[in-house]
Amino acid sequence: MQNNIFIKYSRRRTLAIKIDCTGKVIVYCPLNTSKKRILELLNDKKQWIVSHLKKINTQNSKSKQFFEYQKISILGNIYDVIYKDNKIVIGETSLSTSCKNNVQTIKKWLVKQAREIVLTRLKHWSNVMKIAFNRGELTSARKKWGSCDNKHDIRLNFRLVMLPYSCIDYVCIHELSHILQMNHSKKFWEYVSKYVPNYKDIKKILKDYSYTLQLF
Ligand SMILES: [Zn+2]
Repeated sequence: MQNNIFIKYSRRRTLAIKIDCTGKVIVYCPLNTSKKRILELLNDKKQWIVSHLKKINTQNSKSKQFFEYQKISILGNIYDVIYKDNKIVIGETSLSTSCKNNVQTIKKWLVKQAREIVLTRLKHWSNVMKIAFNRGELTSARKKWGSCDNKHDIRLNFRLVMLPYSCIDYVCIHELSHILQMNHSKKFWEYVSKYVPNYKDIKKILKDYSYTLQLF
């Protein structure tokens, strides 16, 4: 959230917070407002900001800019996708388009990011939970975030890299837990909740991001 907060000083008398349709949090404050006061306000309004941002994220996620690849979510942060000359710019990343089409170029980059980020989280949780898996791979399944088979091979959707870390971690933990419990029994969920006590909330967030399964 932090890199999405903008402070605007002006000759006004009161402090106010606004969130625009892109999820930008703007704090309007009088010229002499201290940083401490602004932080206090942000802290007081934290719950409102988080719930408001969540709503906006959901609305945005359904908007056509995502389906037209004008915007993209990376680890839950939303970026504009800028097409300029022979380049595609996403945040601080600049991709050269070469001969491939734009969507394929972005996909190739995302898969590479997923290999580094998502598969690293899988290894991390495997260590933390002390559960060894056989092979860890990426997939581009349309309906599943992840799977685990009886050979203990774990497959994770490369699109997870568009979701917040909390979701990536949950899916890794879910699939690793299947190595101990190959079902969704009460015991299985007890195991998951050891590492993700709020897994029910995370499942809701995953739902908000289900549109990403239709991308690429
Ligand atoms: Zn499962």
